[in-house]
Amino acid sequence: MSKPRALVIGGSLGGLIAAHLLRSIGWDAVVYERNAKDLISRGAGLGTHQHLIDILRRVGIAFDDSMGVHVSKVLCLDRAGRVVLEKETVRVMSGWARLYRSLREALPAECYRLGHGLVRVEEAADGVTAVFADGTRARGDLLVGADGIRSTVRAQYLPEAQPVYAGYVAWRAMLDERDVPAVSKDAFECYTFCLPEGEQCLGYPVPGRDNDTAAGRRAYNIVWYRPTDPATTLVDLCTDAAGRQHGMAIPPPLIRPEIIAGIKATARATVAPQIAEIFARSEPFFQPIFDLESRQIAFGAPVPRVALLGDAAFVARPHIGAGVTKAALDAASLADALLAHGDDLAAALARYDREQTRFGRGLVELSREEGAYISAQLKPAHERRGAELPRDIHSLMAAHHSSRDQVRRLAAERE
Ligand SMILES: Cc1cc2nc3c(=O)[nH]c(=O)nc-3n(C[C@H](O)[C@H](O)[C@H](O)COP(=O)(O)OP(=O)(O)OC[C@H]3O[C@@H](n4cnc5c(N)ncnc54)[C@H](O)[C@@H]3O)c2cc1C
Repeated sequence: MSKPRALVIGGSLGGLIAAHLLRSIGWDAVVYERNAKDLISRGAGLGTHQHLIDILRRVGIAFDDSMGVHVSKVLCLDRAGRVVLEKETVRVMSGWARLYRSLREALPAECYRLGHGLVRVEEAADGVTAVFADGTRARGDLLVGADGIRSTVRAQYLPEAQPVYAGYVAWRAMLDERDVPAVSKDAFECYTFCLPEGEQCLGYPVPGRDNDTAAGRRAYNIVWYRPTDPATTLVDLCTDAAGRQHGMAIPPPLIRPEIIAGIKATARATVAPQIAEIFARSEPFFQPIFDLESRQIAFGAPVPRVALLGDAAFVARPHIGAGVTKAALDAASLADALLAHGDDLAAALARYDREQTRFGRGLVELSREEGAYISAQLKPAHERRGAELPRDIHSLMAAHHSSRDQVRRLAAERE
């Protein structure tokens, strides 16, 4: 008997983990990625959770020391660079490219197809077909939409579910360790917070170029959340030097030089010098922060054959560093449900939908609460309530610290 076939749309971390897990339960899974070029050059640091490490091990990817940089302290620095709070922690900071490379290399080459942008899904009683932009088609028993926050699959099945702008952007920067100034070298030992009024800036070491985790060859990653009015400032940030407006997300090379010079100057004026110096030597870019919730993540009739996964299903703000962990837990839940229910796709997808909509909703709520005080900066002070009110360093760090336990609790509550 031939194996059931899954068409996985989206070749980022969520799609790759799903393909591995489906193959591990006896499915034939093929990944279709819109980009024509390999995604390895996507550079971003990535916080990890134990669930992610466990799921990577389940698909045969050893999470050894080469996977990430260990940090054992969380610090909060004031504007002058003095330590105002210090706590012990155990964290492994990895990199998007590091995980991608391991997952991609472990998948047979014929199961990963670049240059396949899905435009439409077609269903029949006995199967599902993916129709791609170049006119080619692929047929399978199940289609997994792992195609990110602007998912084509979700747009077809749940067009009302739209990302909602959170009122702030994340400025991101990465610098090779060898280019980091002497004043900032100690930053490589810790996870560091700086808290300018109504903002949040964090920095941590990650694997460097060629995914190297050896001292001297790592990189430093900065994520700086700043309230940004969508009608004025964000429009300006997303307008290129030729005056062309790029919606809410401009490609990084098109950000105007004066915007870059301005944000570097603001870093020097508001953030601890150890972190500001790294930021000033990097090539920063920004990403707007969104919330996304779906009321349902499994679809299709008469037999459900379509499932959303990862950012295509729910997007939690990055404060809890759990986006990839959520994508991995979605994929594991889907594989476990398919294994438990055998040929009964309807029962498997109903279970998946029940487990992971609850989990996704919980994560969105948790991360929204963590970022509420940043969103609230765009409101008059007298209208701010609850988590929107200014937070002192201690409560903020305590909330951040406990968010890992909260993610674990939400994952456990699904069972
Ligand atoms: C500032 C910031 C910091 C973050 N920090 C962390 C962190 O520390 N830890 C963490 O776990 N997460 C973090 N995240 C979240 C994390 O990046 C996402 O949750 C994760 O990348 C989602 O993976 P995904 O595979 O679901 O979607 P994506 O990574 O968005 O991938 C979707 C893929 O689908 C492809 N695609 C799209 N449309 C189509 C189509 N029509 N046909 C075929 N292919 C298509 C895209 O090209 C892309 O490769 C952060 C996010 C931000 C914005």
